[in-house]
Amino acid sequence: MEKVLGVDIGGTKIRLGIIDNAGNILFEKTVPTQVPLYSYLENLVQRVLGDFPEVTAIGIGTHGFVEPEAGRIIYATDILPGWTGTEVKEQLQKATGRRVEVENDANCAALAEVKFGAAKGIDRVVCLTLGTGLGGGIVWDGKLLSGGTHGGAAEIGHMVLYPKGVHCVCGRKGCLEQYISGTALRRRIEEAGLTIEPEELFKEALFSDSAKRVVDSFIEDLAVAVSSLQAIFDMEMLVIGGGVSESAELWWKQFEQHLEPILLNPLAVKTAKFENDAGILGAALLVLD
Ligand SMILES: [Zn+2]
Repeated sequence: MEKVLGVDIGGTKIRLGIIDNAGNILFEKTVPTQVPLYSYLENLVQRVLGDFPEVTAIGIGTHGFVEPEAGRIIYATDILPGWTGTEVKEQLQKATGRRVEVENDANCAALAEVKFGAAKGIDRVVCLTLGTGLGGGIVWDGKLLSGGTHGGAAEIGHMVLYPKGVHCVCGRKGCLEQYISGTALRRRIEEAGLTIEPEELFKEALFSDSAKRVVDSFIEDLAVAVSSLQAIFDMEMLVIGGGVSESAELWWKQFEQHLEPILLNPLAVKTAKFENDAGILGAALLVLD
């Protein structure tokens, strides 16, 4: 059975996993993210390969815009300082002698859901990852729709919802990420004068009107986003993952009620199967055939 290494690079931690063709995680390790990132990453990978020399290839999922063919980081925010411009694929292939593929982390999560998770067996799927930011991943006819002229394809989080809205990290105003992500919920909670964590919001909404208003506007914005995505893709299924989806049982019914009347066509909407593991599984899938 083939074994590959999947690496998930985030702003605070890096996860590495040895994964076989059936999607079993045979070994897993999580370490804090450190800079300079590339040399740190190469070191980590070499150590894992020392313990698992049978690993045939390495898949990397990372925060930021990625040019997948070259395996180069086109742009990463200050969450990963110095990462922009790094030739990850070329350098790591040379250092390890293994095939290396690099993709955006939300794209990896989408691959994991389509191959092994909530959208298993479905060919045309759009995934939203509602974590700290809002990631998007589109799998079309079983393949990732990624790259693009500037590495920005499927950056759903930067679709504009409110042209005069809140400033976004991309330099523009009103992007979806500023309304339907963990960070967005934090801002909305603060603006509502509440002093709770985003994780507590959905429970709080059962008792507090101001929390309920925050939840209502989050749900309305999410439903509009899904409806617009359907107009573009007419996908078979939409999957919602990331930290915010972990409390979905508290808001899912209301979300479906809002969504249904604004869809063009019926649409299957599911929560993701994987939470933490989506990143390493999807990264491994970049190099598992
Ligand atoms: Zn933006």
